Amino acid sequence: MKLVLLGAPGAGKGTQAKRIAENYNIPHISTGDIFRENIKNNTELGQKAKAYMDQGLLVPDELVLELIMERFKAPDCKNGYVLDGFPRTIPQAKALDEALEKNNDRIEYAINVDVDDDVIINRMSGRRACLNCGRTYHVKTLRPKVEDTCDYCNSKLVLRDDDKPETVKKRLDVYHKQTQPLLDYYNEKGILHNVDGTGEIDRIYNDIINILKA
Ligand code: AMP
Repeated sequence: MKLVLLGAPGAGKGTQAKRIAENYNIPHISTGDIFRENIKNNTELGQKAKAYMDQGLLVPDELVLELIMERFKAPDCKNGYVLDGFPRTIPQAKALDEALEKNNDRIEYAINVDVDDDVIINRMSGRRACLNCGRTYHVKTLRPKVEDTCDYCNSKLVLRDDDKPETVKKRLDVYHKQTQPLLDYYNEKGILHNVDGTGEIDRIYNDIINILKA
């Protein structure tokens, strides 16, 4: 199964993508996570991406596409994947479709996790991330067992630079201009499904699973 999770930054795509990936035994591919991993390891790609990420801007399509096409070659992608944070522009979506079409393949589901901007701004200021394993928590709604510490790898949790309020506003602006047009793109293909992304994480997850089972 190949699916794309759409939605504004902070809509909860990552949390849902991890659960879907576990349930269907397919990889969760987050371009944001891959960039953060490269920044942590101080690679050339990481250095290039960081300059854009810190300003809340999108990394140029060429860089993203190079990275994702390489990722698709890994053997774990043969039964599908959950894409989280990719595609984020129309050229990225078209490049993805073209790459899949070459193998007579396609994206089956585009799921839009729908959350209003004001809710996102509130959520992101409370988000805490583990820079080691990429898991995210929230000071009110998804607390770690031990304060400021990752449940999985015991690393310290931090407020990511790109989750700071002024950067979040910029990212939302970029989302509306560059990523939201993908909703029409996938709607026209007849594979767009909207899920209310506010409320309980379990309910949102069940709504998604019901779409995938239908
Ligand atoms: P995320 O964790 O998905 O919100 O991504 C964090 C940041 O990484 C974004 O604000 C962008 O700067 C960059 N990024 C991640 N995925 C993409 C993408 N598909 N296209 C361009 N930039 C991306």
